[in-house]
Amino acid sequence: MRQEYDSLVAQDLDWRIKELRGPSLPRANVAGKENVIVLCSNNYLGLATHPKVKAAAARAVRTHGAGSGSVRPIAGTMDLHEELERTIAHFKHAEAALVYQSGFAANAGLIPQLAGDGDVIISDELNHGSIIDGVRLTRAERLVYKHNSMGELESRLREADAKPYRRILIISDGVFSMDGDIAQVDEIVKLADSYGAMVYIDDAHGEGVMGEGGRGIASHFKVEGKVHVEMGTFSKAFGVVGGYVAGSADLRRFALNKSRTWLLSGSHPPATTAACIAAVRVLETEPKWILRLWKNTEYFRKQLRKLGFDTGNSVTPIIPVMCGESSKAKAMSERLFGLGVWALPIVFPMVAKDKARIRTINNAKLTRKDINEALAAFETAGKAAGVL
Ligand code: PMP
Repeated sequence: MRQEYDSLVAQDLDWRIKELRGPSLPRANVAGKENVIVLCSNNYLGLATHPKVKAAAARAVRTHGAGSGSVRPIAGTMDLHEELERTIAHFKHAEAALVYQSGFAANAGLIPQLAGDGDVIISDELNHGSIIDGVRLTRAERLVYKHNSMGELESRLREADAKPYRRILIISDGVFSMDGDIAQVDEIVKLADSYGAMVYIDDAHGEGVMGEGGRGIASHFKVEGKVHVEMGTFSKAFGVVGGYVAGSADLRRFALNKSRTWLLSGSHPPATTAACIAAVRVLETEPKWILRLWKNTEYFRKQLRKLGFDTGNSVTPIIPVMCGESSKAKAMSERLFGLGVWALPIVFPMVAKDKARIRTINNAKLTRKDINEALAAFETAGKAAGVL
């Protein structure tokens, strides 16, 4: 273990984690440094500290205790779990939903059940690691298409169609978390329809952000009800933790009876479940957070470009600041932290060697003053690192 760890350190690939000392806020205590502007949290809307979400968690401890006592299928399904499933299904305009312990558990548990021997999975090359791990657990054949290339997707579908597969399953992220670009879900749905394929979209970075009322990427493209599996997470815009799949009642029954991560691992504690319910309700009743997130995002993106930064193909609150070589991205991130801005470098092997970047994630709770301060820090750090 030490040898392998040392080799990671020698390649500069080891994680050096900074701790939050206190709540997840856009101005936080990071590793003892006060008042740092946080541009790397997935708590897009600030719901992790919303008073209604916190109160729901505290109340659930009093009414339901600290733990659930079991896995869901045995004695670990509480009324709160079922209420959360009804709440998220209603929010997603879906017939039914099933909640998992995390988004990772949803992908790793359901994908290998949806496609097995005699099936084929067609996957975008930049899909999230939890999808990749889910796909690794299947006996299905795998085909990969170039990122967001609908032409290549169609070629893969044609290839698959020529063979006697039982099922063709297309899987894609909705919003891609390294570039902040989005999948052409309307085109995917159209192609799937003409080749009789099933569509599975990971909406982890879409809900609370994209679509009407933050309902996600399917709503954004007006294809609600046409995506067979909408998978999501409560760990990002909802500000808590947990995963879910939403779709038909058949999907829920199937996923519940087959997903090993759901069947064999303990269920969420009451506080988590109640906090998730409250977070969905806040999103339904307080759309102002989504509007603020987009206002901040558009301002930040525009000003970064004005300064001369390349923000890639981003069209969402995930905005990369392209740096080129890894060393530049790392130097820039360190300088930014020194200037009171926390934004992480994304380098090889997470992205190609010459595509290193600082990934920023915007937040509804940042003020214009915070953003202007962050922009000034980007200008200074960008010049110092040779990015500008
Ligand atoms: N899919 C995507 C696209 C993600 O970004 C993430 C979180 N990193 C996940 C799935 C996993 O979600 P969770 O944090 O709920 O396990």
